[in-house]
Amino acid sequence: MHELSMADAMVKTILDVAEKNKAEEIIEVTIEIGKLTMLNPEQLRFLLDVLSEDTLLQGSKIIINEIPVEIKCNSCDFKGSTDLDDSDHYLAIVVCPQCGERDLEVTAGRECNVQKIKIEKSDEEEEK
Ligand SMILES: [Zn+2]
Repeated sequence: MHELSMADAMVKTILDVAEKNKAEEIIEVTIEIGKLTMLNPEQLRFLLDVLSEDTLLQGSKIIINEIPVEIKCNSCDFKGSTDLDDSDHYLAIVVCPQCGERDLEVTAGRECNVQKIKIEKSDEEEEK
């Protein structure tokens, strides 16, 4: 499952950062998910919950930011956001909303990152 491997990688990243920063507690984690990743945010959240059991991440607040798809069209110079055809969740075909061409660059929407981790240390609080 797509979401499971992503969630697994994210939990590892978060715990790794927390450990390196000697976190005692993870308060808040912000994750950004591009629409083009086809990840289901609700499913991702559920899996993060399951995977964080018995770790520092258990009970932390998880914020998921969905990033809309943005393109730059090579045919008509259109720049901006475009909607995906939601009918097929496993094959994302992005076309220019202005001219309908597929000759374009995707400038946003592929993100799948841990954006921010807020931790609690024994002596100070730090935002990363
Ligand atoms: Zn175009």
